[in-house]
Amino acid sequence: MRPALLDPLFAPVSSLSGIGPKLEKLLARLTGRDDEARVIDLVFHTPTSLIDRRLRPGIAYLPEGAIVTVEGRVDRHQPAPARSSAPYRVFIHDDTGELTLTFFRAKADWLEKALPVGETVLVSGRAEWFNGRPSMVHPDYMMTADKADTLPECEPVYPMTAGLSPKVLRRAIDSASERIPTFPEWIDGEIVRRQGFPALKEALLALHNPRDAADLDPQAPARRRLAYDELLAGQLSLALVRSRMRRTRGRPVHPTDALSSKVRAALPFALTSGQEDAVTAILADMAQETRMLRMLQGDVGSGKTVVGLLAMLAVVEDGGQAVLMAPTEILARQHFEGIAALAEKAGVAVKLLTGKTKAAERRVIEAEIADGTARIIIGTHALFQDNVSYHDLRLAIVDEQHRFGVHQRLKLTAKGMAPHLLVMTATPIPRTLVLAAFGDMDVSNLTEKPAGRKPIQTVTIPTERIGDVVGRLRQALDEGKKAYWICPLVEESEAVDLVSAEERRETLAKALGPEIVGLVHGRMSSADKEAAMEAFKNGETRLLVATTVVEVGVDVPDATIIVIEHAERFGLAQLHQLRGRVGRGDEASSCILLYKGPLSETGRARLSVLRESNDGFRIAEEDLKLRGEGELLGTRQSGMPGFRFAHLEAHSDILALARKDAAYVVNKDPELQGERGRALRMLLYLFRRDEAIRYLNAG
Ligand code: ADP
Ligand code: MG
Repeated sequence: MRPALLDPLFAPVSSLSGIGPKLEKLLARLTGRDDEARVIDLVFHTPTSLIDRRLRPGIAYLPEGAIVTVEGRVDRHQPAPARSSAPYRVFIHDDTGELTLTFFRAKADWLEKALPVGETVLVSGRAEWFNGRPSMVHPDYMMTADKADTLPECEPVYPMTAGLSPKVLRRAIDSASERIPTFPEWIDGEIVRRQGFPALKEALLALHNPRDAADLDPQAPARRRLAYDELLAGQLSLALVRSRMRRTRGRPVHPTDALSSKVRAALPFALTSGQEDAVTAILADMAQETRMLRMLQGDVGSGKTVVGLLAMLAVVEDGGQAVLMAPTEILARQHFEGIAALAEKAGVAVKLLTGKTKAAERRVIEAEIADGTARIIIGTHALFQDNVSYHDLRLAIVDEQHRFGVHQRLKLTAKGMAPHLLVMTATPIPRTLVLAAFGDMDVSNLTEKPAGRKPIQTVTIPTERIGDVVGRLRQALDEGKKAYWICPLVEESEAVDLVSAEERRETLAKALGPEIVGLVHGRMSSADKEAAMEAFKNGETRLLVATTVVEVGVDVPDATIIVIEHAERFGLAQLHQLRGRVGRGDEASSCILLYKGPLSETGRARLSVLRESNDGFRIAEEDLKLRGEGELLGTRQSGMPGFRFAHLEAHSDILALARKDAAYVVNKDPELQGERGRALRMLLYLFRRDEAIRYLNAG
């Protein structure tokens, strides 16, 4: 039960006065709550910059483009002539010169009232010079001098969404702020004192009322306090989950090698020593009574799947079941095909269960999962829906962990299952991020690529030269090579992506021959997607035009060229993932990044990092610097709550503190029942980490 003190903050924004259905929708979009925005979402909406209106240099000295405030006398109004598109102008002066205020489609009577001729007024807005004369177009504020004290000296600037005006948002945030209660202090008193943290209420009010640029710095006391609360909530929920996992012990796995030896013999390659080490570490973990919690990191193409398979076989040898969960349908199917083919050599039954599995087939598979005939089960989130119950689940592998949150882990635990857990990720996650997002985990790294891999040559080419690229592509296809052509992301809209991909397919088909060009995109039915992938795999088509559905994990080892259109629109990690679709076999591969100039500074930096480096770790670190942590974790795709206040680089010191303190709390008061424990429950609710509370014994 959420503490009643928080109820006003968790009420829908429509409970605030002046917020109707239209504004409610805008605020939901703004705060990324497609269901409904709560008051707390507004309270947590964080300004990113500041408008300082304290600059008052006098009219003659207005700096071009700067936000300024001018005090002057109104000389005259010059209304627009009837039926003219000319603007309405008002002229004011001070001791230094004359300023033109310009209004388009303005109401004369309103302006006459706001700026009465002969009176001294205050206007504030952006100064612009035209032909040596200063002007201000649509001032942000206009008032007669007697109301001067209503002019905000400093205004926070918030991230916006189309259709919402800053003033309306400001008003909504102000009325949301009135609901902020006085919270009990949940941070350890010693930490509060040493860090100089303000109380939470004070910190939130300061967040929305910055006085100067320093207040926006991540190290400002209010921001550090908020970051600490956020990190503490995260670490505490992880610590609770972890301690719960510890209490539900795992069962040791005793493999016999009977199955894995057969599969190893059937592999067309020898494992790298990194793969061997990872398998050894996993088997050692699973032999313990404490549950394994291990992350297997390895760059794209480093061969994580086979490591996962060997871990699953160990469990099957001991009579248990293992699941492998993938983030997408296409990837689950691909894993299924690869793994089933190998497992067959050892006579192990592998099943596929996804959201698209037909009802009749699903019932059969669910029955086999329940009675234990299905030994290895591969699928998507469908694997953990409520109606799926396992006979003896001993190992869960989650592929591409960065796309999932802690939620899935909780879900497993909630089902009363205590499987060992292995998460595999190709987006190497810097240590600080692993800690912040997932808590402590053992990590195995696959640092070497399988032998014989040739480096991928990466080039950047401006879009204007697309003709050359198509020409070279024709030549390569004539030589029997296979290529991907990745279409740009357009404003995160799938519908628009789709059009661009289909159009591109058409033009490429015309240029290169319709029979060899395939298409795969997110809106296709999964059967069509599979058919398109299959045709590409077996060589019926040799150029596959695709949206980012091929981003993660798709494996066609003889594809050696990838063209990425509008590469400047993709994130660094995503480009690296895409590039990883090639260079998977023993042929030399190339990656062509088509970009549309002029590039922003970050855009240029991103492409050059990629051109220079094939090292996923280095790229992930650069990505963190260039884009911030939210996107690296893929919060966009998964909807996993990212961090609003914490900047993992700036706040790594308090992250460490929060971890230590969370561990201390869980150790001392594991059910959060003491005074501080109860306050901490409130913190968990406040940051929507309350799923952890459900696993405490006493509600
Ligand atoms: P990822 O780590 O990106 O998931 P995969 O597991 O899909 O990589 O492996 C990429 C490709 O490399 C697959 O075709 C796989 O069969 C192959 N592979 C894996 N291990 C080795 C190895 N030791 N030697 C050669 N090829 C390997
Ligand atoms: Mg993979």
